[in-house]
Amino acid sequence: MFDDAPAVDSDRGSAPSVRPGRGSAPVVGPGQDPAAAVGSDRGSAPAGRPDRGSAPNVAPGPGQVPAPAVRPGGGSGPAVGPSHGATPARGTGALDLCLMRESLAYACTEAETALALQGLGAYPVHAHGTAAQRERWLPPVRAGRAIVAFALSEPGAGSDAAALSLTATPDGSGSGPGTRSGSQGWRLTGEKCWISNAPEADFYTVFARTSPGTGARGVTAFLVPADRAGLTGTRLDMLSPHPIGALVFDGVRVGPEDVLGEVDRGFRVAMTTLNRFRPSVGAFAVGMAAAALDATLAYTAEREAFGGKLKDLQSVAHQVAEMATRTEAARLMVYAAASAYDREGAGAPGIARRAAMAKLLATENAQYVVDAAVQLHGARALQRGHLLEHLYREVRAPRVYEGASEVQRTIIAKELYG
Ligand SMILES: Cc1cc2nc3c(=O)[nH]c(=O)nc-3n(C[C@H](O)[C@H](O)[C@H](O)COP(=O)(O)OP(=O)(O)OC[C@H]3O[C@@H](n4cnc5c(N)ncnc54)[C@H](O)[C@@H]3O)c2cc1C
Repeated sequence: MFDDAPAVDSDRGSAPSVRPGRGSAPVVGPGQDPAAAVGSDRGSAPAGRPDRGSAPNVAPGPGQVPAPAVRPGGGSGPAVGPSHGATPARGTGALDLCLMRESLAYACTEAETALALQGLGAYPVHAHGTAAQRERWLPPVRAGRAIVAFALSEPGAGSDAAALSLTATPDGSGSGPGTRSGSQGWRLTGEKCWISNAPEADFYTVFARTSPGTGARGVTAFLVPADRAGLTGTRLDMLSPHPIGALVFDGVRVGPEDVLGEVDRGFRVAMTTLNRFRPSVGAFAVGMAAAALDATLAYTAEREAFGGKLKDLQSVAHQVAEMATRTEAARLMVYAAASAYDREGAGAPGIARRAAMAKLLATENAQYVVDAAVQLHGARALQRGHLLEHLYREVRAPRVYEGASEVQRTIIAKELYG
């Protein structure tokens, strides 16, 4: 009934010449089951923020951050961006981020996700923070000593993020003149949901409503340290091994010194961050598709059926050719969108459309390729622990987060019609 194929295929065949960095060391070995590599304790997790310092090697449970992937040596720095004042270097642009995410995704999705989430959470501080905020918070992120999260979504506001209702109520107790917003402070009250790296993060980029009834224009971004009184969280257990949770803000105090960018202009902080990261979500998808494709090439070249190899059946070979062609198209579109961002800047015309197109095409393609790869592997791909069983679970979420595919189409159409 079963053949003797390994449960996890560690030989993904030869890499296409354009694939970046297969030589760069993944945090978890190629083809290894990431859950097994970082620990398989799936017991129930306590609410709130665990003390990572006391148990750095603790095996992650559902929704938990894989500590080995973010601790020193995990290399969060490149996803965050260069130190201010530093000469721009390789490993800091949108294209570099895509190349890193693609190569990590090919080798280990959990390592990829750890890198990407650190970048998503920290980028608003890098791009919009004050010198004091950057100096206090970015070095520990770059060094892998601090975990960070991007908190936009709420139970009642996902795709329609501008409808967010987490409220910043003025309390008039700011820390004095000389700050960017005068002396006013706020109390944050409400919930965030589906926040990657919550509740373990050391600080959060939180988007809150400072002006009621004004939609996207009345949102402010705040940097909120996790130890602020009134901030609690719980982990969520998802289909894929993704560190994620929900947060409750019960009158959490923030001051002018915690504002990222300008008061009531926080939606722009969120959107420019997403424009930078969306092509790289596409790169994550391309890396997964490439891994599935290479596994399929290796398997169909060896598997005997009907007196020959599977690859000698034309319907099989044509399916693999289609998978390869679509993956290459997605890869090129991701590179083009990221290059345009690097060349023209976040606010240039067409950047949002290109980012949306790249994410849409690459994530939808990865779903198709991984599903086709499962089909061409037969039953073994569905055995728990198989590379494709893992990718089948991993490939689904990117079609929903950072804007569902339908939202990407809306962004594209909006630009097309001017
Ligand atoms: C693994 C994972 C990680 C995440 N990490 C983060 C994070 O770090 N930070 C954060 O803030 N959020 C995060 N999210 C939340 C994510 O951004 C939201 O799930 C996403 O924006 C969709 O919101 P929703 O789930 O509430 O779906 P809804 O808004 O309820 O939409 C449901 C569905 O309706 C359809 N739909 C919605 N709008 C339209 C439209 N305009 N036109 C046509 N169809 C539409 C789509 O099919 C959509 O999937 C994460 C989600 C997941 C799954």
